[in-house]
Amino acid sequence: MTTNHLLWKVEEGTKVNLKDHDPNYIAKDIDHSNAKDALDNLSQKLSDLQEALAAAQHHSILLILQGMDTSGKDGTIRHVFSNVNPQGCEVHSFKQPTPEELAHDFLWRIHKVTPPKGVLGIFNRSQYEDVLVVRVHKLVPQEVWERRYKEINHFEQLLANDNTIILKFFLHISYDEQKQRLQDRVQERDKAWKIAAGDWVERKYWEDYQKAYEDALSRCSTNNAPWYIVPANHKWYRNYAIAHTLVETMRKYKDDWQKELEERGRRELAQLQQMQAQNK
Ligand code: AMP
Ligand code: MG
Repeated sequence: MTTNHLLWKVEEGTKVNLKDHDPNYIAKDIDHSNAKDALDNLSQKLSDLQEALAAAQHHSILLILQGMDTSGKDGTIRHVFSNVNPQGCEVHSFKQPTPEELAHDFLWRIHKVTPPKGVLGIFNRSQYEDVLVVRVHKLVPQEVWERRYKEINHFEQLLANDNTIILKFFLHISYDEQKQRLQDRVQERDKAWKIAAGDWVERKYWEDYQKAYEDALSRCSTNNAPWYIVPANHKWYRNYAIAHTLVETMRKYKDDWQKELEERGRRELAQLQQMQAQNK
């Protein structure tokens, strides 16, 4: 396991034990009092990088958010991506499959909406539900969900081979924090719409879910599609850690994108000059 010091990256082939990762963790040099400025700053960088990604049309980005109910998947999308150009961004949420989706292989609905070149795609839940909720509630036989880890790895490798930069974030909250958040939803009137009675039922399966997550993180973290465990009890810290990791990842490609744009500019200019010369 390595860390960019804000969160934990699961190295390919390592066995994850979630109890070793504190959902309350905050890196020592990160201060809540200037977190808002820091996030604004990252948000601006993200916006610039996304512009380069969109212009270069060379890569796509797929950012996957997974986590228990109330772990902050929606909140992350709201806060981290508030500055990016909606034209270059796509969000997809995966709910219970429709009858049509169920009549296909589990990756069918996912593959249909993977981001094309130039686009930053965000998945709120994903193909991983098919080895999480489906496994916990025994919706398919074990032999079926067992083979899905490999199928997911192949699928993600296919996307990576086609220049998709993949980042997967597991928003790690504690059992007590979830209880607090569910209770808040009951008490705060303006959050009452978020109450899902089913979330209290799912909570009973907490340990089964943790185990299913440990397996997904251990078996499906690869060099081309790594899992990150995000300490997510503190919302501001969760947002900062994810934004920082995304910006750092995109920065590695920025020079390539710039070069691509410059080359394209030169080609277009040469073509224009040729046309003008012919028209003389
Ligand atoms: P929410 O994210 O609160 O809108 O809830 C979506 C629900 O859909 C969650 O309870 C997920 O576990 C469930 N869900 C998503 N994908 C699947 C799937 N492949 N099979 C069964 N349930 C799913
Ligand atoms: Mg929910």
